[in-house]
Amino acid sequence: MTLLKGIAASSGIVLAKAYRLIEPDLSFEKRKVEDTAKEVERFQVALSVSKDELEAIREKAKVELGEDNAAIFEAHLLVLSDPELISPIEDKIKNEQVNAEYALKETADMFITMFEQMDNDYMKERAADIRDVTKRLHAHLLGVQLPNPSMISEEVIIVAEDLTPSDTAQLNRQFVKGFTTDIGGRTSHSAIMARSMEIPAIVGTKTVTEDVKDGDFLIIDGLKGEVHINPTEETIASYKEEQIRYEEKKAEWAKLVNEKTVTADGEHVELAANIGTPDDLEGVKNNGGEAVGLYRTEFLYMGRDQLPTEEEQFDAYKAVLEGMDGKPVVVRTLDIGGDKELPYLDLPKEMNPFLGFRAIRLCLEEQDIFRVQLRALLRASVFGNLKIMFPMIATLAEFREAKAILEQEKEILVAAGTPVSDEIEVGIMVEIPSTAVLADQFAKEVDFFSIGTNDLIQYTMAADRMNEQVSYLYQPYNPAILRLVKMVIDASHREGKWTGMCGEMAGDELAIPLLLGLGLDEFSMSATSILQARSQIRGLSKRDMVELAEKALEMRTAEEVVAEVKRVTEEK
Ligand code: PEP
Ligand code: MG
Repeated sequence: MTLLKGIAASSGIVLAKAYRLIEPDLSFEKRKVEDTAKEVERFQVALSVSKDELEAIREKAKVELGEDNAAIFEAHLLVLSDPELISPIEDKIKNEQVNAEYALKETADMFITMFEQMDNDYMKERAADIRDVTKRLHAHLLGVQLPNPSMISEEVIIVAEDLTPSDTAQLNRQFVKGFTTDIGGRTSHSAIMARSMEIPAIVGTKTVTEDVKDGDFLIIDGLKGEVHINPTEETIASYKEEQIRYEEKKAEWAKLVNEKTVTADGEHVELAANIGTPDDLEGVKNNGGEAVGLYRTEFLYMGRDQLPTEEEQFDAYKAVLEGMDGKPVVVRTLDIGGDKELPYLDLPKEMNPFLGFRAIRLCLEEQDIFRVQLRALLRASVFGNLKIMFPMIATLAEFREAKAILEQEKEILVAAGTPVSDEIEVGIMVEIPSTAVLADQFAKEVDFFSIGTNDLIQYTMAADRMNEQVSYLYQPYNPAILRLVKMVIDASHREGKWTGMCGEMAGDELAIPLLLGLGLDEFSMSATSILQARSQIRGLSKRDMVELAEKALEMRTAEEVVAEVKRVTEEK
């Protein structure tokens, strides 16, 4: 048995077999072949095995994911049967006396480049199909096993180096019970997705992909941040008990699902949820979310080959607004860049992506993309209580420009007779220190603030949120951060506006007493944290927390603050 420590990214306990989701090495050398007939035969075998495999996947996908989702495999099968692709590969092997891997790559690359350059979305998608099919053929030619998450049919824990947001979005929630990765931190997107999928996850273990083989038995302890590999019977038994205890606690919290969030002395705060897709609404409801405090729309743009259309976006926004039944929904406009890439936008690689061309900076430059999203949002606004929020605002000029574009789009829609709500609040994320410092000026022009501490902390402390080596500087309780939070909240209140927080700090058990004391109006967190937070807040007195926060603001270190929070809350 081996014990690995990592970062507890999503709470809960799970016991299941490991499933390694790792891109295999598909590299090869160009070789000269003498017996070209035999080489063609080798290629045909790979072709036929790939077809069988894809047919099996298609059938399974039809049953489990529906016809629509199975269509992609149909397209892959068509590529495998297309003589326009297959014949040139066989000809190349024969005429140039090269190995099948090389002939396949050269021919496929030619078609991929050709399709990608076409000004036609349908043909661009064909390029992606060829790329996928080529990978499968290469794997068979090289005798390498490709991971195939869509074929998972038993409960597993995914083991991966990292999971991109699109990988995570494609995981089958029925069978994927948890995951663990080599890299990442509490605020990396894989961690955030795990919380929205409500599955335990440990990230940043550094070596889990080296230490775990397919089929090893794992325990993920998402409370302590531990991965147990092939544990003893004794450990398994004690974890099964622990799992029951945790479930009992959850059952206690669940009783609060329809309750208001009020402190012991009767102050109400709003507990909202962070979501990534309309599918997450179920979790919001099950956990008694009073609002959606952050809808990260970038997931709509990920895991695909081209931008989502206005209609696709409209459908998603409408679904969320209707699903929330008139409760507030804060939609954040596209926040791409940083650790969230969109390969099809072909953005240049940057030295410092977190400080670079991302979020609102990109949207103000690439206005076509921005305007499509704003139109979809404005059209959806009549289906619920929409609030629009711009990410990564650093200056008032950026906010004014973004708002002016929104107003223009609204005017165009209204002139064309499209109904648009007149009550859309327009706010900003405060995640750049300049904006926090100047919050008094911003407060005169915005309708609300939502503090994005995941970024605000990394920018204030100059510590990359993805880099484990500097994670000791990632200090939510540092008085410097608390003072910035206070400046923002106070500035908004002076102008009669409200402040929420949608960074991970808002759901952190040790931060909640401080934030309550600082006067935060809305706490937006992973849906799974809401009930625990509600239970905690109901036990705290606002008056005592104001006193605690005042003390904390005068302290010198994060450690002093944590000790004081523990002392005060444990006294309760
Ligand atoms: C934040 O920065 O706190 C935030 C909520 O945004 P994201 O994590 O998506 O960058
Ligand atoms: Mg952010």
